[in-house]
Amino acid sequence: MPRVASSPFDAWLDLDPAVAALLHEEVERQSTTLQLIASENFTSPAVLAATGSVLTNKYSEGYPGRRYYGGNRVIDEVEDLARERAKALFGAEHANVQPHAGASANVAVYNALLEPGDTVLAMRLDQGGHLTHGSPASITSKFWRFVSYGVTPASSDPEGPGEMIDFDQVADFAKREHPKLIVAGATAYPRLIYAEPFREIADSVGARLMFDVAHPAGLIAGKAHPSPVGVADVVTLTTHKTLRGPRGAAILCQAELAKTIDSAVFPGLQGGPLEHVIAAKAVAFGEAALPEFADYAARVVRNARALADALATEGFRLVSGGTDNHLILIDLRPFDEELTGKEAQEVLDRSGITLNRNTIPDDPRSAFVTSGLRLGTAAETTAGMGPDDMVLIARLISTTLRHRHDEDALSNVREAVRELCNRFPPYPQFTGRGEAGFVGAGADSGGG
Ligand SMILES: *Cc1c(COP(=O)(O)O)cnc(C)c1O
Repeated sequence: MPRVASSPFDAWLDLDPAVAALLHEEVERQSTTLQLIASENFTSPAVLAATGSVLTNKYSEGYPGRRYYGGNRVIDEVEDLARERAKALFGAEHANVQPHAGASANVAVYNALLEPGDTVLAMRLDQGGHLTHGSPASITSKFWRFVSYGVTPASSDPEGPGEMIDFDQVADFAKREHPKLIVAGATAYPRLIYAEPFREIADSVGARLMFDVAHPAGLIAGKAHPSPVGVADVVTLTTHKTLRGPRGAAILCQAELAKTIDSAVFPGLQGGPLEHVIAAKAVAFGEAALPEFADYAARVVRNARALADALATEGFRLVSGGTDNHLILIDLRPFDEELTGKEAQEVLDRSGITLNRNTIPDDPRSAFVTSGLRLGTAAETTAGMGPDDMVLIARLISTTLRHRHDEDALSNVREAVRELCNRFPPYPQFTGRGEAGFVGAGADSGGG
């Protein structure tokens, strides 16, 4: 294998050849297989550099100007910059950029707004909600009493395909259960979610509203989706999905809740913040404020529509009939009654197509097996792919699944995937393939 760099600090990694070799392998995997996991993206070299910086050495419990350790002059400026950029990007009054992950951001908000045992109304996991929205498997359901809403039944009516958030149910449950908090947002829901109907229902029962935009944060920053900031009381987001930053999260809220939220994150839930990641969040917020990012967000949505249309043409049933955002949920049953999400994910992996199995609404199979697949366009749009490439991807997925017991067919697909990926290298500067450029500025392939 030619010697390639896997990060801006690669030279130092030669001091640990075992780890360096694994990083090289992972760069190779990300560059030669299709990354269609809806919650993943390719960050810019600037984000990678900040994440790999000396800020990882620093302890800085507390907040800018109020730290429990010395030596935080620079750190304070870094965190202030991240907070100011987050506020400007989303038009928020207050930002907390310390949550290590989306899950901890959500738990911190519950910790801020609720007493143990309080009732929360949120979307059920198998209907598209997140584990931290009260799944029995999550610690959230041990401390708070979750009541779950879901989506409307599937319908064959093209005007109202169903599988959209059931607002009658949200309103009924709110009236009956008197939740202290209503949670909007989802992890496997291909449609736009407006905050206003949730706000109305929350107001009618005196509940607070939290909107978890972990997935569409980048689409909101890029103005491809409307923003719930200012409508919801609190907005949580991850920085590593469509927002294309480092792994992590942030919480946005009105000034009135700033102190409560901050102290629920630290010392309520976390210890020392990851200031290297916070610096990388600042970089990502800065990138997301550029005009190119709005163009990126629009292309992500356009590519998702093109992929959805092409998958439907290949004979797949799409949950809710299509997509408004970056993700698509496939119901595999009409395509092949025998094919589970688990088997489909595994055979697609062998073709170099990386995505995840997912439950679909009212899935008869378990969460480990499932009848669905979830895929998204955020990462490969960053790499520069366009609508024509989405048509090819749909064909490669369909061919793989139809011919899953035919080794020759699978190796032909693997070759076609490699050829497609070679045209859109996410990190040309590390692999020596393609033209070195800023990953964030990836242009359309010209596919129309
Ligand atoms: C991804 C996601 C999270 C959790 O993010 P992690 O960083 O994996 O903890 C929370 N809520 C929703 C809706 C998500 O999609």
